[in-house]
Amino acid sequence: MNVITVERKILEKNDEIASKNRRAFSEHGIFTVNIVSSPGAGKTSILEQTIERLKGRVSLAVIEGDVQTDLDARRVAKYGVPAVQIVTRGGCHLEAGLVHEALQNIDLSTIQLLVIENVGNLVCPANYDLGEAVKVVVASTTEGDDKPLKYPAMFRNASVLIINKIDLLPYLKADLSTLRKNALSINPSLAVFETSCTTGAGIDEWCEWLVERTGRKDT
Ligand code: MG
Ligand code: ZN
Repeated sequence: MNVITVERKILEKNDEIASKNRRAFSEHGIFTVNIVSSPGAGKTSILEQTIERLKGRVSLAVIEGDVQTDLDARRVAKYGVPAVQIVTRGGCHLEAGLVHEALQNIDLSTIQLLVIENVGNLVCPANYDLGEAVKVVVASTTEGDDKPLKYPAMFRNASVLIINKIDLLPYLKADLSTLRKNALSINPSLAVFETSCTTGAGIDEWCEWLVERTGRKDT
């Protein structure tokens, strides 16, 4: 037996559980997004602003994936939404089985939207289906404009790109149009949003996209 065979078996098992999760989401009419990025791109900050804007419009729950600590789940829970923390203890990605366990702590009949914040990592989360409707990749301007070319699998498998921290552009070498062009060269069908959690720019547009998809059962 070689390593490739083992890896494939792990992924097959993962996909099986991901299908179960997907079935549960569809039975309850829940739109599920899997947010991925490198560490520090601003996933949790975007999530906080998103929850604030969706309050009273969409009922949602959050699953937070982190290598260590429940700091992010605590940040999110402050906004009064159900938040479940998965601590991977060194694991660099979420797997469908972990999400399946986390779901036991969420009343699926009461929510329309589930947001899963993945562990900060642009490599393996691309290969692990969690049962989500879409992957949302967050790329921060501080990471430069070549991320899509370096991690093409993630950008190819995502449906949405959020370019975050655009308020910092004046201080950076990264070029917004180059970043956008690089991403679209990998995946022309990406929906792209340009955001800043400091100024609030672009967050409304992203939230409108999310609200529009939520409750739609054909996604
Ligand atoms: Mg976070
Ligand atoms: Zn990993």
